[in-house]
Amino acid sequence: MEIHSLPLHRIHDLLESRKLGALEIVSAFLERISAIDPKLNSYLAAFSEKAVEQARLFDSGALDYAASPIAGTPIAIKDVICMKGALTTCASRILAGFVSPYDATVTAKLRKAGAIFIGKTNLDEFAMGSSTENSAFLKTRNPWDTERVPGGSSGGSAAAVAAGLCAGALGTDTGGSIRQPSSFCGVVGLKPTYGRVSRFGLVAFASSLDQIGPITRDVEDAAILLQAIAGYDPADSTSVDLPVPDYRAALDHSLQGLRLGIPRQYFIEGTDPEVDRAVREAIDTCRGLGAKIVDITLPHTEYGIAAYYIIAPAEASSNLARYDGVKYGHRAQNSPDLMEMYRKSRSEGFGSEVKRRIMLGTYVLSAGYFDAYYKKASQVRTLIKRDFLDAFEKCDAILAPVSPVPAFKIGEKSDPLQMYLSDVFTLPASLAGIPGISVPCGFTSQNLPIGLQILGPHFREEMVLRVAHQFEQATDFHLRTPRFMI
Ligand code: GLN
Repeated sequence: MEIHSLPLHRIHDLLESRKLGALEIVSAFLERISAIDPKLNSYLAAFSEKAVEQARLFDSGALDYAASPIAGTPIAIKDVICMKGALTTCASRILAGFVSPYDATVTAKLRKAGAIFIGKTNLDEFAMGSSTENSAFLKTRNPWDTERVPGGSSGGSAAAVAAGLCAGALGTDTGGSIRQPSSFCGVVGLKPTYGRVSRFGLVAFASSLDQIGPITRDVEDAAILLQAIAGYDPADSTSVDLPVPDYRAALDHSLQGLRLGIPRQYFIEGTDPEVDRAVREAIDTCRGLGAKIVDITLPHTEYGIAAYYIIAPAEASSNLARYDGVKYGHRAQNSPDLMEMYRKSRSEGFGSEVKRRIMLGTYVLSAGYFDAYYKKASQVRTLIKRDFLDAFEKCDAILAPVSPVPAFKIGEKSDPLQMYLSDVFTLPASLAGIPGISVPCGFTSQNLPIGLQILGPHFREEMVLRVAHQFEQATDFHLRTPRFMI
């Protein structure tokens, strides 16, 4: 097998056993990025010189592979996460040229663990979208079919992992942005519990929902990367001070006797029949592995989209108020006064989806409308969370589709509402704050990947990873690579 199609843990094994040097590996990935990425646009920036410099430190023995299971492996970071000295654009013109003066906690943790940062990946502007088409700079293409979107908003990270342009990546998930692109690109993506991973240094979109998580080639890699970034951080008041279990150790426990819940609201008309079939077959596979399949109900599922598309824009409108052209980022020229400078800077700097969210969010928070919209949506959110808490009385984890459709064509969903509706199966878990993973579970007749979503109770990532790993090891979907890879 070629280096680029190996999972991160295998690359680390090769490094540690001195079968390959870090420079050899980093150069192989960098060459691939220059050869292939112009067709995919998964990266906004590649860090060729710095990555090579760091690889040399490993080869010379100044840095040690034994430092961690990711030491010496090339990792890509979604460009909404701060990295000291590197551009952090959020794929927005308003932040074009902004160099982050500090590391996000996750970046600092990966740096300490010896990761080699290979580049920053493309996304929907400020992570708002489901296709990466909202990036102000590039349209990322799906490696399985370059006429199609990679999903979003972490489309750059998912496409880079799928195309073998990094060993693993970080994405962020506010309403599905790790799980959905992972399912569209045939890779593994884990959204941790809200509070499990520090968001210090993550540019905020919707603060009560945002989480950072891994996008990887297999489940073991997801466990390894999560281990490296999880844990309490005094710099993020929403991070939770709970012990972090050994995620890798949990993977090998069988599914024997585990109760897996099938929520009837996730098997509905409107889902692509090939997606529905693949997920049902995945359920049968889990049954065959000894799991007990139980029917469950999540009765408020249908209100997820409405609640999310009130809460997320409301928080975004507040978070994005800081981009005023004064402190950093784009500033409009030749403004006659301060108000005009604010207005012009924001009009020029933000793209249309971001403007739509700011307007929606401002509206639902305004006096007179707050109770009818934001407060109501928050109450619905509580009901959705309770649905999950009740369900987890009856089951240990939940199986469902990630997205009702496989990767769609670039430009196909021009109506924002159509785009929002495609988030139907990922939003409820985000609103509830529970962990969820997407793991490859099949392909359509057009050879497009399909993802199985596995959801678990709060802070039970090890349960989600275990079910995903057991399913993955019983199937071979994760071993297929896009034709593009060859
Ligand atoms: N697609 C959803 C949105 O547009 C979720 C995005 C995300 O998780 N960052 O808001």
